Amino acid sequence: MYKVRKGTLFLPNLSPMLPVNTTFASFMVIVRSSEALQTLIKKLRRDGKTIGFVPTMGALHPGHLSLVKNAQKQNDIVVVSIFVNPTQFNDPKDFKLYPRTTEQDIYLLEKAGCNTLFLPPTDDIYPVGTAQLPHYELGYLETILEGKYRPGHFQGVCQVVDRLMTLVTPDRLYLGQKDYQQCMVLKKLLSLTGSSAQIEICPTLREADGLAMSSRNVRLDSRERSLATGIFRALTFISSELQPGSLAAIKEGALQLLSESHFRPDYIEIADAGTLQLQAAWDGKKKIVALIAAFMGEVRLIDNMILPLNFANYAN
Ligand code: AMP
Repeated sequence: MYKVRKGTLFLPNLSPMLPVNTTFASFMVIVRSSEALQTLIKKLRRDGKTIGFVPTMGALHPGHLSLVKNAQKQNDIVVVSIFVNPTQFNDPKDFKLYPRTTEQDIYLLEKAGCNTLFLPPTDDIYPVGTAQLPHYELGYLETILEGKYRPGHFQGVCQVVDRLMTLVTPDRLYLGQKDYQQCMVLKKLLSLTGSSAQIEICPTLREADGLAMSSRNVRLDSRERSLATGIFRALTFISSELQPGSLAAIKEGALQLLSESHFRPDYIEIADAGTLQLQAAWDGKKKIVALIAAFMGEVRLIDNMILPLNFANYAN
């Protein structure tokens, strides 16, 4: 049986049973097993519905919800998944400390008009365990930036998204520009797996002081939180100083700003926005992206900015 609570419909773990004559726009269905999800998706497809999919790791904030809103505009049904994927954490401590706020997430998604929330247990995502998962040929993309500093991270991202895409079979996949390299990796994943889903990249939502919204921000103490705006200041510095020629001095200046804010940077790089080839100089025309990863205390933050600013949309 399922229970209805404040307009939310819970489907139990093992039952693929679906409510009869469900009006999906009127409340949110919470599905806790892949079997139940597939039954639901089949019904939606029979009814000719289009599906937009927003994969997340929960601890939702307005950045996540903006993806849901975009998905709502373009699809009949919005499916959101919350799954803190163990295989993409190269640091076990980071996995353990990753914020988990499921009750609040349910409330926020319901309010945002999400139709279906998929909350799978780990063995539903990885039914044969995690020891022998597929390997994806990501090539150059996996050798730089996040790929270089977080070995195995993008394999983990592909493993979970591949599985979720197989279950949800969406028409459109919604991703945030905040994870710029991840967007490119997932574009590659869809081409490797022959998926016809369209990728929609949504702009980064920021706090009033420019800090990119992130689930990890809640782990910053108040001193760290006020310093954390330094990452955005470094990106804005790059934007305002950008001119044709060598990028070395600009990167040095941005690095200086980061260390003044007590950040410990992993990298600060400027890359071709389409290929992520790292750039030592700029020709004044090319669309580029400045990318930063840096630790504030124990918390690793990433952010990016597409430049010059009049090119500010992600190259879909
Ligand atoms: P996560 O839960 O961190 O895996 O993120 C789920 C999705 O939300 C990813 O596609 C992220 O890029 C996106 N996202 C995270 N933070 C933001 C933000 N501040 N603005 C827009 N999208 C975001």
